[in-house]
Amino acid sequence: MHIQIQCCGIVLMMVLFYFYMRQKRVSLDTQRAFLGVFFATFICIMFDVLSIGAIEYRHVLSEPFAKFMAKSYLVTLLGVAVSALSYMCVDIYAKQEVYRKKMSGFWILGAAGVIATYAAPLHYRYAEDEEKVLYTYGPGVLVTYGTALVFFITIFYLLKKERAKINPRRREAVCIWLFIWIIASQIQYMYTDVLIVGYAGSIGIMVLYLKLENPETNLDRSTGLFNSGALYQFISQFFAREEEFAALVIIFEKHAFQNVQIQKHEIIKMEIVEYLLKLPDALSFKNAEDEIIVLFTDTEAAEKRSAEIRQRFQAGWGEDHTNVVRPFWLYLPHSGVTDRAENFLYLIRYVRQNEKELSEHVFFTIEKDSVEKMYREKETEQMILDAMEEDRVEVFYQPIFSTEKHRITSAEALVRIRDQEGNIVPPGMFIDIAEENGMILRLGSIVFEKVCCFIREHPPEQYGLDYIEVNLSVVQCGYEHLAEEYIRIMEKYGTSSRCINLEITESASTSAKKTLLGNMEKLMEYGIKFSLDDFGTGQSNLNYIVEMPVDIVKFDRSMTNAYFENRKARYVMDAAIQMIQGMNLEIVSEGIETEEQYQTMEELGISHIQGYYFSKPLPENEFLRFLESRMDGQEVQ
Ligand code: C2E
Ligand code: MG
Ligand code: MG
Repeated sequence: MHIQIQCCGIVLMMVLFYFYMRQKRVSLDTQRAFLGVFFATFICIMFDVLSIGAIEYRHVLSEPFAKFMAKSYLVTLLGVAVSALSYMCVDIYAKQEVYRKKMSGFWILGAAGVIATYAAPLHYRYAEDEEKVLYTYGPGVLVTYGTALVFFITIFYLLKKERAKINPRRREAVCIWLFIWIIASQIQYMYTDVLIVGYAGSIGIMVLYLKLENPETNLDRSTGLFNSGALYQFISQFFAREEEFAALVIIFEKHAFQNVQIQKHEIIKMEIVEYLLKLPDALSFKNAEDEIIVLFTDTEAAEKRSAEIRQRFQAGWGEDHTNVVRPFWLYLPHSGVTDRAENFLYLIRYVRQNEKELSEHVFFTIEKDSVEKMYREKETEQMILDAMEEDRVEVFYQPIFSTEKHRITSAEALVRIRDQEGNIVPPGMFIDIAEENGMILRLGSIVFEKVCCFIREHPPEQYGLDYIEVNLSVVQCGYEHLAEEYIRIMEKYGTSSRCINLEITESASTSAKKTLLGNMEKLMEYGIKFSLDDFGTGQSNLNYIVEMPVDIVKFDRSMTNAYFENRKARYVMDAAIQMIQGMNLEIVSEGIETEEQYQTMEELGISHIQGYYFSKPLPENEFLRFLESRMDGQEVQ
């Protein structure tokens, strides 16, 4: 019999099956679909062998039976084609109902193919001579191949059309699998004694297994828990099915193992893992940040179950239960507050990083407000990105008045974003977020570039301006190459360093002091001067002024306002003014809105005033018009 090759295929598949079943698996639709292809291929190879046997022993088993078996083999080929198609559709139609609906059409076509194959006549040629030929032909074969062809064309079509929806590894694996089949059937067609199609099927299965379906790739090697890849697939499936789950996140910060001897850490961790692995109705995953995420599919029981887990932790670990581990706990009662796996994972990271309460509360329940905050921040992030991409970042200028020269002598550049509807978004809405995610570096450079461009087109001295003040964020101050970047921009626009004054804040001077000082040194060498912004907010420390090589100190609006509201603030400000003036530094008072405030500041000897009293921050053109109108009839000194 010509069944040696098929038998090799059967053995190969049995080995794969052994390895597959031996592993712990997370219940995924893709795995069920893979098992579908696996069994379809296995049955196909078995029938290949059986049909050859039936043909060889047709004298004993009867001619109709041999034909029936040969047709059954053909039918199993259709089974392989349908299962391959359903395997690929798992990614495309993630929603169960859609998947079933789409697949039902193919099942009907498959069933029609099966009936037609059995109904149509079939012939075979079998010679036991030297040639060892065995092949089937006739309408039955044509019907099978025709139907299978429809499936294969559909697979190719979907691979192309729904490319974006299919996991790239699955796409590649399915392509290799199809390729092997096509090559094998060509070889078998040309050399009729080489019956390798069945074997090729088993090789294809091996490719799928190795590339995508090996359950081991879903496991975390060190703990045996499911890994983040499995977590992503598992929860994606839940969201696709619109099913809810609850999650308990266990975060092992350093202090969690504070009361455990260092040599026992690993043993205790494994004991915890073993406990989690045995939990009924819950699946535990370990993510890339070394957190453990326990998922409960029964959301009603989840709260009770998670309380039990926490109690178990309180009971202590180790033989004598003396090792108490105190992790942070994040609890998400309803996954429905987010809409996708990506957002769920992002939410956990977000809450972990942003909820200040987390360090105070060992147990934190993620409520709707955390989620809303996260979405708002995400939206803002996108808005900033889009604005930068689509050149919707604008710079407004707020004039600064010199009490000595009695005219506008400088201005502060203040960033704005114009949203898609054309409305202006103030920096209070996005600066913090841009600082948190690092976009401020790019945003800061864009603002600086726009200021330099503005200076080139409208030389400040023509408008009586000495310089433009540009804000630097804390994050920018801590960026090693800031000085080089800003000097490069100034050179690009031929900006004179005299025209630029950079504003730093107190917070910058503490956090990244060394880098900031390095940057300041390089920029000062280039001729740039600095102001200390926001003086009077936070923990104002007069030492900063002594330590920082600044020329100007800017009093924050809150400080100037307090001057008019309480006596103590007045004393503080008087002393600060004396000291700053004693150091020969200039002062800018921000937030001056009324004549009275202006008069008082002038009397106090404040050299510069900035505030709505003179003007709000203005867009470029209005700012130029404002300057021109003030220059009319006034000599620029
Ligand atoms: P800041 O640097 O202290 O800027 C002064 C803020 O006070 C400006 O708010 C200005 O519009 C406002 N202001 C000035 N005079 C008055 C007044 O008389 N009354 C009132 N109510 N407000 C007044 P703005 O433009 O909303 O900027 C807020 C903050 O955003 C800035 O505070 C600065 O810290 C930051 N910022 C603005 N532009 C940039 C930028 O390009 N880069 C960076 N890193 N931060 C920026
Ligand atoms: Mg400022
Ligand atoms: Mg300020």
